[in-house]
Amino acid sequence: MTVITRFAPSPTGFLHIGGGRTALFNWLYAKRHGGKMLLRIEDTDRERSTEAAIQAILDGLTWLGLDWDGDVVYQFSRAARHKEVAESLLASGRAYYCYASQQELEEMRESARREGRPMRYDGRWRDRDPSEAPEGVKPVIRLKAPTEGETVVEDEVQGRVVWQNKDLDDLVLLRSDGTPTYMLAVVVDDHDMNVTHIIRGDDHLTNGARQTQIYQALGWDVPKMAHIPLIHGPDGAKLSKRHGALGVEAYRSLGYLPEALRNYLVRLGWSHGDQEIFSTQEMIDAFDLGSIGRSPARFDFAKLENLNGHYMRQSDDEHLVNALEGLLPELDKDEHHLGGTLTPGLRQKLLVAMPGLKERAKTLVELLDSAYYLYAKRPLHLDEKAASLLADGRARLDGIIAKLEAVSDWTGPNVEAVVREHAEAIGAKLGQVAQPLRAALTGRATSPGLFDVMAVLGRDETLSRLRDQLKDAPAA
Ligand code: GLU
Repeated sequence: MTVITRFAPSPTGFLHIGGGRTALFNWLYAKRHGGKMLLRIEDTDRERSTEAAIQAILDGLTWLGLDWDGDVVYQFSRAARHKEVAESLLASGRAYYCYASQQELEEMRESARREGRPMRYDGRWRDRDPSEAPEGVKPVIRLKAPTEGETVVEDEVQGRVVWQNKDLDDLVLLRSDGTPTYMLAVVVDDHDMNVTHIIRGDDHLTNGARQTQIYQALGWDVPKMAHIPLIHGPDGAKLSKRHGALGVEAYRSLGYLPEALRNYLVRLGWSHGDQEIFSTQEMIDAFDLGSIGRSPARFDFAKLENLNGHYMRQSDDEHLVNALEGLLPELDKDEHHLGGTLTPGLRQKLLVAMPGLKERAKTLVELLDSAYYLYAKRPLHLDEKAASLLADGRARLDGIIAKLEAVSDWTGPNVEAVVREHAEAIGAKLGQVAQPLRAALTGRATSPGLFDVMAVLGRDETLSRLRDQLKDAPAA
């Protein structure tokens, strides 16, 4: 049997982080078993489905590196097939027309509310002859669900879950306007797409039971199901925007690498011993449904940041420069004065400085910020810490410009020698000179090694930046 999984998002919003994880699990499971992952866009809710959301889902999956097999299936385009299946259930006596009016349904809802139980359609049209149908009322088609016994889902994550059939009412398959319900459409599509494994959030667990009843009425095999616990915030409450329930594209804009996010997501609810870092191949080789936990995973931004830092340090310098460039158009252009692209000169400087830069940053946004000294326009804007370091150490830099001007062969070791001599001459420690110097040259309190910075900037730029900052220096 070829494993076929599917990711079936409703395009009513962006691809959120929980959806990204569901897609990843489906993708991994398919890859693990040499199978396929299909993509179905569940766009039957015409009011709420948008083109922009479809595009965001496709872009999000692509950015995460999760490809799907074959063409995207659009659920709405299959409405005629859904209707045909509903009608076949009518013909086989496993479904019936229901003419209950809105008012009758409201009364049922009201008495359920009064008695403090969930609303259940009472089956009033189940055994009635259609000749009793009221004039001019368009019926819905309901499933003639079993009223006794149990419906069981042997879930790969939740274990055996049992519902009493008396608690599950006759659900609507086809609305009075002839459009299918979600419950019917999902079953028909999963069947027609030969899906073998349904992996999705456990908010669909009861749907799993209802869908099982539809499969059984149709005499179709029920795919295996795996309902994964939802993602919660660090405080245990349901994930909200405040916790990181953002679209996948927001993580991209925040400067995360897709490989880091993938690694983070795979560990949200799934574990493999105490291993935390997985290459893509390692995840594929190790992934199984049995190791998905039954309790909600907690979203932890700090852990994601640390993982991202790890992946950045491991990354090839060129890869990081490309990732930065890809991110530029999304960042505030004015703040960086980069106009959304890297000039060849800046690209070269970034490449040279990258080994030092990537040691410190946790996100691409931080990386770009820490590279400020490479693209900053003179006179530099010093951040608060840098400004105070320079104010404090300005006097110790007195005379250093002239000494540096005398360096003819501008290399890291040569400028280092001059700065060391200067520190010694004024009886200061190296750090007491290097810190204000760094502040003046980079606008920040931290940076890669100062002498590397000076070498990358070059003689003219270094001296000009120092003159900018030191010209008003009070005499020591
Ligand atoms: N379209 C549903 C959703 O986005 C998922 C349906 C399913 O996976 O069966 O929640």
